[in-house]
Amino acid sequence: MSQTRQREAILEVLRESGRPLTRAEILRKGRELVDRLGSATVDRAIREMTSKFYIIGVEFPGQPRRYELPAECEHPHFICRECELVYDLPVRMQLPKIKAPEGFDIRGGEVIYSGICSSCR
Ligand SMILES: [Zn+2]
Repeated sequence: MSQTRQREAILEVLRESGRPLTRAEILRKGRELVDRLGSATVDRAIREMTSKFYIIGVEFPGQPRRYELPAECEHPHFICRECELVYDLPVRMQLPKIKAPEGFDIRGGEVIYSGICSSCR
């Protein structure tokens, strides 16, 4: 199986889900598209695609890292307190410019809303 096919499968999974997915979710859904998609293979593909910004890693406190496709604008996320799924909120957003405290090196920022999603209500 070609590496290209594996990567296409990962991109397809992320495109279809429309929300950030954990590595485990990518693996599970990817196996529905490509039989015998190996977990080491997925890890390697995720690492390479993240370093090339084909996919973006999103991290929330106390949560496993998730991945999504690059969006054309920054947007807030929503995490459901019941099922812990993370959704993109379709809202244009700009993070405020901040002055980092002395000695701090800020590498990213996230706006996260939480509550109960429509399927859990
Ligand atoms: Zn939910």
